[in-house]
Amino acid sequence: MVWGPSNAQNSFEPLSAEPIVAVLIGPGGVGKGTIARRLIESDDHLWLSRSWTTRPRRSGEDGSEYRFVDRETFEAAIDEDKFLEWAEFHGNLYGSPLPEAPNGADVLLEIEVQGAEQVRREIPDAVVFLILPPSMRQLEERLRARGDQEDHVALRLSSTPEELAKGHELATYIVVNDDIERATAEILSILEGLRRLRRGPS
Ligand code: 5GP
Repeated sequence: MVWGPSNAQNSFEPLSAEPIVAVLIGPGGVGKGTIARRLIESDDHLWLSRSWTTRPRRSGEDGSEYRFVDRETFEAAIDEDKFLEWAEFHGNLYGSPLPEAPNGADVLLEIEVQGAEQVRREIPDAVVFLILPPSMRQLEERLRARGDQEDHVALRLSSTPEELAKGHELATYIVVNDDIERATAEILSILEGLRRLRRGPS
């Protein structure tokens, strides 16, 4: 699959300057979304992909979280090869459109594990961060604190063991979200290190 910055056809950058594709995975409630937002706020070189989903908007969501579409629209986009990856998760479709990051920007995806497996196949040197909760109990408490219905909490927890098992297979780095600022700083510093490695000292 061909993908790249939106003006990639005009730029012939050396391989070592290829954008980093960073993928955040981890069980629901672990804080991936918050970490993703903080990473973007702190790192001007990082561009966050906006996913499409067929799931209904939750109360409290303002519509910026996803591009909310119906199943027909989503399936048409699959047929047109518009996604870097997509997956069905608890009955809803989620997908990352082929990235259109500004030239030179690194790409951040916040997705579930089936999607991360596809990204790994397409982009073998994608960097996968598995975010873990300090304990399973805290994960459960965080899901409840989000205001999710009890049956939804149970559903999300039911897939956690599989998400964690696949997540460990895919992970390049494992980051424990014991403190949101610390976890974000850890990822930022790993990304900085990778940039130095891939692009040399600036
Ligand atoms: P939620 O419905 O709670 O917003 O998201 C459910 C799960 O879907 C989360 O694990 C989230 O990371 C994941 N997700 C969000 N966007 C995408 C995407 O574009 N592709 C895939 N594969 N998963 C996604």
